[in-house]
Amino acid sequence: GSTIGIIGGGQLGRMLAMAAARLGYHIAILEPQAECPAAQLANRHIVAAYDDPAGLAELAAISAVITYEFENVPVEAVEALAAKVPVLPPPRALEMSQDRLVEKQFLNSIGIGTAPFLAVDSDADLASALQDFGGNGVLKTRRMGYDGKGQRVFRNTKSTDCAGVFEDMGGVPLILEGLISFEREISVIGARDANGHVAIYDAAENVHRDGILHTSTVPAAISPAMAGSAGEATATLLDALGYVGVIGVEFFALEDGSLLVNEMAPRVHNSGHWTEVACTISQFEQHIRAIAGLTLGSPRRHSDCVMENLIGDDVARLPELVAETDIMVHLYGKTQARAGRKMGHFTRIFVAPDVST
Ligand code: ATP
Ligand code: MG
Ligand code: MG
Repeated sequence: GSTIGIIGGGQLGRMLAMAAARLGYHIAILEPQAECPAAQLANRHIVAAYDDPAGLAELAAISAVITYEFENVPVEAVEALAAKVPVLPPPRALEMSQDRLVEKQFLNSIGIGTAPFLAVDSDADLASALQDFGGNGVLKTRRMGYDGKGQRVFRNTKSTDCAGVFEDMGGVPLILEGLISFEREISVIGARDANGHVAIYDAAENVHRDGILHTSTVPAAISPAMAGSAGEATATLLDALGYVGVIGVEFFALEDGSLLVNEMAPRVHNSGHWTEVACTISQFEQHIRAIAGLTLGSPRRHSDCVMENLIGDDVARLPELVAETDIMVHLYGKTQARAGRKMGHFTRIFVAPDVST
């Protein structure tokens, strides 16, 4: 069969490989770590850095289409690759999502609201930005952050408290965002195919623990109007990017009923793992369908559900979890259960009673 190339070999790559295999595709991954979650399922594992020209050329030579499972792949490498073989989602989406400043400017330019933000490149910038935001804000590295890493929250801060912060944060370009007092956090998984057809899953309500996603609950406890706006914003974003594939969009839901986008991920998303059991077509299959030129499936959800991540030692709960009814457990094949490491997840579905019998 034809081969789909994936840059990155983590759990998202693994789950994409599972969905692709079911549709008859072969999988090749490019991943520097010899042992990685996706390697167990890949037909071919190119062990090379994500920007290694020889590794990328090898991937391009065997792949009908190439995708990526994390957003910090060097854009230049992906653009060079795109000249030889289709790379989806389009490199522009990757570029927009890699830098929090560029991302927010882009979202605002297409009419999507975000937290207010200012670029910070020194302690003096920070002091002045904090003053603009009334002493409160969330300082983040513009690039490379995930699971809340590279962030610092400021509350009622005076400019004298800013000394040394820029160096402490690594001396890299930063962004200060206004501290949003949200009522809840939600996310939407959306997909777009090459013909512009869009499929939007129901919004999930997300709870974080120590900066890491803990649970995603569907349906989210939001009004139909808010659910509609979240879906519309996601569709607007997909169209604006000429997107092909699955995107994850995180929102802050405010008390007054308005929504702000926190960030987007140009890939399948942890808060969409519930789709593998509460929908006929999961986000993983949807992504493979979109990039392979197949018709998208319905994003319809057949059950209410709660997905919970298994972080570090949580994985020891396996015996107890598999003893329960209506739980799907999904482990990523990682052998070392380090603290803060995503080892797997499970989704509890609430099966509707069959009223016809
Ligand atoms: P991810 O693992 O989702 O990629 P990340 O490291 O990119 O995370 P963010 O999503 O930007 O980080 O922030 C992590 C969490 O911190 C958010 O889900 C939210 O709970 C909180 N947070 C982030 N920005 C703000 C803000 N401007 N105001 C209030 N809370 C915020
Ligand atoms: Mg992020
Ligand atoms: Mg986030």
